[in-house]
Amino acid sequence: MNLRKKVKTNCINYGVSMRLYPTQRQKALIKKHFAAVRSVWNFHLNQRQELWEAARYTINYYEQCKDLTVEKTTEEHKWWNEVSSKALQSALQNLDNAFVRFFKRQANFPRFKHKGEKKAFSSPNYLNGNKMVIRIEGNKIIFQKFKEGIKFRSGKIPENIKSITVYEKNGKIYASCICEGNKPKIIPTGKAIGIDLGIKNLVACSDGTIYDKYKIDKKKEKKLKRYQRIMARRQPAKEAKASNRYNAIKLKYGKLMAKIVSGRKDHIHKITSEIVKNNDVICMENLKVKEMQKKPTLKKFHLTKHLANASFHEVRRQIEYKAKWHSKEIKFVDVDFSSSKICHECGYINNDLKLRQRNWVCPNCNAKLHRDVNASINILNECLNFNTAGNAEIKGRGVLEQANGQPLGSNETMSRQLASARVHNCENFKREG
Ligand SMILES: [Zn+2]
Repeated sequence: MNLRKKVKTNCINYGVSMRLYPTQRQKALIKKHFAAVRSVWNFHLNQRQELWEAARYTINYYEQCKDLTVEKTTEEHKWWNEVSSKALQSALQNLDNAFVRFFKRQANFPRFKHKGEKKAFSSPNYLNGNKMVIRIEGNKIIFQKFKEGIKFRSGKIPENIKSITVYEKNGKIYASCICEGNKPKIIPTGKAIGIDLGIKNLVACSDGTIYDKYKIDKKKEKKLKRYQRIMARRQPAKEAKASNRYNAIKLKYGKLMAKIVSGRKDHIHKITSEIVKNNDVICMENLKVKEMQKKPTLKKFHLTKHLANASFHEVRRQIEYKAKWHSKEIKFVDVDFSSSKICHECGYINNDLKLRQRNWVCPNCNAKLHRDVNASINILNECLNFNTAGNAEIKGRGVLEQANGQPLGSNETMSRQLASARVHNCENFKREG
C-alpha cells in the first residue's frame, strides 16, 4: 500500500487573510511590486500577441521565464531586479493560466492591466537553507524581499504556508496565505436537513430553526445612502478624469461598504457552521446563478435586494466549502421545484399561495404551515426521495451512505427525524402566529 498517498488525502488547503502594517519604506516597495507585476504581465502579453501575429507561434511559460531573465538586464527593465523574482514568475504563471483558460473557452482573451485595477502580487513558499522563505516570526510575517518582516494582524496564525498574495483594498494593504492543514475529525450525526433561502428569513431549516437575515445598523445605512448621493453628484463626466473630491468620497464609501460586507459574512459564517456541523446531508435549492450574477448598477442600486442576492451566494459558497472540509454531502433540488406551494403533510399543491402569506393552512388536510419551513421540509423530502405524502417511505438509499463509505444513520433515524421536523414546524407556527 502506498502510505504517502494515504496521508495526503487527509490534507486540505485553506486561506488565512490578514491586515499588514508596513512601514513607509515597505509600503513603497510593495507599490513597486504592484507596478512591476503589472508591467511584466503587459510586456509578456504583448510579446505573446506579437509572436502569434508574426509567426503563428505560441510561446509558453518556461520560454517566457527565460526571456524574463534576459529582459532584466536591459536598461528599460532593470528596475524589475528590485522586486521579488518569484512574484514576477508567478505573474507569468498567471498569464499562462489565463491563456489556458482562453484556449479552453472558459474565459475571454487576457486583457492589459492598467493602473487603477486591483493591485496584487503573489509568491510561493519554499525551503531556503534550513528555513522556509515565507514564515511567521513573532508578530511579523517574513517573505521574499521583506526579510525584516511586516507587522500583521489576523484572527488565525497561518501554519504550513504554501503561498502568499499581497493586495491593496480601500487604501489598506492585506495579505492572504494559502495554508495546508489536516481535515478536522469527522463526527457523523446521522442527520439530514433541508434548507430554504429567503429574503424575509435568510435561512429556514426543516427542523424548524429560522435564521434571520443580517440587519444593517440604521446609522450605517443612512451614511451609506448619503455617500451614494454625494458620489452621484460628483460623478465625473464621460472620459473625464475623476476629481479628488470624487475619489475621496469613493474611498469613504468603499470602507463603509467593506464593514457591512464583513459583518454580514460573519453572521452567515455562524449560521453555516452550525448547519454543517450538526448534519451529514444538507439539501438545498439550486439557485438561479445567472439571475444572481446580475450586479446592480450604482444608479439602480437597491440595497436590500443587492444584499439578499449576495447573501444567498455567500450561504451557498460557505456551505459548499465547509461541507467539503467536513466530508458532508450536499444535495440540490431543481429550481423548477415549487417547494413553497406543496403541503408537506399531504402533497396538496396550493396554487393560490401569495408571496406575502407567511403562514397558511392546507385546505386539504388542515395542516398549519409556516411558509419557509414547509418549503425546507419539501426540499429535504425531494432530495431524500421521500414521497411528498410524508409517510417517510424511502425510495432511494444512496444518500445514507457517506463519501467515506461509512453508513450514516438508518432509514429509521431519517423517518424519526422527519417526524420531529413536523412537530417543530407546528410549534413554529404557534410561536409566530
Ligand atoms: Zn395538506
